[in-house]
Amino acid sequence: MDRRTFVLALAAAPFCAYAQPKNMKDIQSLQDNWKSFLPAGVSVPSPTEPLKLSKDEWRKRLPNELAYRVLREEGTERAGTSHLNDEKRPGIFACAGCGLPLFTSEMKYESGTGWPSFFTTIPGVFDTKKDFYLIYPRTEYHCKRCGGHHGHVFDDGPPPTNQRWCNNGVSLKFIPKDGGKA
Ligand SMILES: [Zn+2]
Repeated sequence: MDRRTFVLALAAAPFCAYAQPKNMKDIQSLQDNWKSFLPAGVSVPSPTEPLKLSKDEWRKRLPNELAYRVLREEGTERAGTSHLNDEKRPGIFACAGCGLPLFTSEMKYESGTGWPSFFTTIPGVFDTKKDFYLIYPRTEYHCKRCGGHHGHVFDDGPPPTNQRWCNNGVSLKFIPKDGGKA
């Protein structure tokens, strides 16, 4: 590769990696290709291996009280407090409770809400229910494997999905694709 080709490749690379999906076919390929964001040699659980623990076991397993309150009691972290708001490296956002992969870095976008936000998910990883905590109904979603609460999904996200998966950062752990520090 000569210098000019190299410079052109550098200029094109970020654009290709983060090209915004234009239609549902693009979304489908983001979903189909999620495993390409896993670091080499890392094995992850699947939604069909349920993880059921007692309250005490969850308290021991989770890193702190906030993670317990959000994941196990449907709490909400304060907006703007998660370091994952600014996480832009290629990789996987997995459930902090059980390690199930939930989103890739390509599914994340800046919603301006102060919570990590995604316009689609890895397929088949969440169950949903309606909740009425704020009087009007919202769609709550939780991890299919461990039942941990993650957030709410709204219909004001970017096209083509128009979905905004508004996720508590404390419910997620980031696995960088290059095997770097989480
Ligand atoms: Zn989980």
